Amino acid sequence: MTLAVGRLAPTPSGRLHLGNLTAFAAAWLSVRQAGGELVLRVEDVDQGRARQEIEDSLREDLLWMGLTWDRETPRQSARDYQPALNLLRDRLYRCTCTRRELAARGGRCGCAHASHTEGAVRFRLAPGPRRVEDRAWGVREVPPDAMVDPTLVRRDGVPTYSLAVVWDDLCDGVTEVVRGADLLEFSGVQAQLWEALGGREPSWLHAPLILGPDGRKLSKSHGALELAAMRAAGWEPARLWPIVLSWLGLRAEGLEAAIPRFRPSGVPRAAVQLERLAPQALRWRWAEVTVGEG
Ligand code: GLU
Repeated sequence: MTLAVGRLAPTPSGRLHLGNLTAFAAAWLSVRQAGGELVLRVEDVDQGRARQEIEDSLREDLLWMGLTWDRETPRQSARDYQPALNLLRDRLYRCTCTRRELAARGGRCGCAHASHTEGAVRFRLAPGPRRVEDRAWGVREVPPDAMVDPTLVRRDGVPTYSLAVVWDDLCDGVTEVVRGADLLEFSGVQAQLWEALGGREPSWLHAPLILGPDGRKLSKSHGALELAAMRAAGWEPARLWPIVLSWLGLRAEGLEAAIPRFRPSGVPRAAVQLERLAPQALRWRWAEVTVGEG
């Protein structure tokens, strides 16, 4: 039997919030239950957005909540992605469209047939839907209109998250990807990259999205729901865990107690809608999923 290998893959451009915490808790529980290994990988491929002080704070937040890891793998900014590009060579093309042009065309354009010698590097997806099996969402067909040829290298030569995340998971021996449901549809694209790289596709588990009072997924604009702010407002892990674990469909006082109870197929698909931004008391309800529903 292969050892289960999971990962915590934070991007050090925004502080950890309740959405990250929920997804990381699911990743942690899944690996701990399987007796596997959890790696920490700093996803700083976009150096223009990565911040050292945010990286320091996210390590602090993870340890505060007891989300331990077993080893740390090379950060993205230290990796070489050329070997991946070499393997994908036959399916790459250059795209000269501007961001605005692509947005106007829903990410699609005629560059795949144009043989440009400059521009961003994109990967040609296979036509048709892509079947992806998620441990919470079941077997799904990601429809072709939900997937566009991903950009793997920006026009300034910087590799993108789409390339880095798949190559890193492959190099790190990751067997299970557990993260937030905002990336549910994107797993159809990633599965195709895994296949083209000759890797063994990991299992997928997408945890509930956590939405702010405005109905949008948590981001920097919901600063009060960042873990550092909640810690400053007097929250303790012992008070926070029962709430966050309930969002994963679990009744447990804390992380350790939740290990034997964790059931990937019992992880809710509905989103959690937070009702107020006040960090002292959390009020929330389940909401219809509007993101990632196929
Ligand atoms: N680094 C990504 C993020 O913070 C997560 C990517 C993943 O888990 O696949 O959103």
